[in-house]
Amino acid sequence: MGVEAFLLTSTLRGVLAQRLVRIVCENCKTIDEEAASPDELALIGLSPDVVLYKGTGCEQCAGMGFFSRKGIYELLVIDDELKKAVLKSSDSTELRHIAKRHGMKTLIESGAQKVRAGLTTIAEVLRVTQEV
Ligand SMILES: [Zn+2]
Repeated sequence: MGVEAFLLTSTLRGVLAQRLVRIVCENCKTIDEEAASPDELALIGLSPDVVLYKGTGCEQCAGMGFFSRKGIYELLVIDDELKKAVLKSSDSTELRHIAKRHGMKTLIESGAQKVRAGLTTIAEVLRVTQEV
């Protein structure tokens, strides 16, 4: 971006990414009997025994199966180790690795929590986290 690293590290406290996932309609919510593929489960970090839900579509959700939206979040907190890595011009993979080691929850992990809670679908989380 053309910003000096020392200016960035001295002023930046964190970076928040947000996506909105559609929430399964409570009025027509049902257990999704079609098992997710092992690849989908692995991609989102869910175990095969997770109970998945979907909306079948009703008048309340205009047949969509979804009714509202909620946010999923990824918060990168700029701590001392990340500041040092930015000053060393580390690549984004290394910065991400450091942040995850320090407890950063990724967008997909945040979405997986909503799937586990029965609020949204795997396809929905993948749709909003893999768009370019
Ligand atoms: Zn519905």
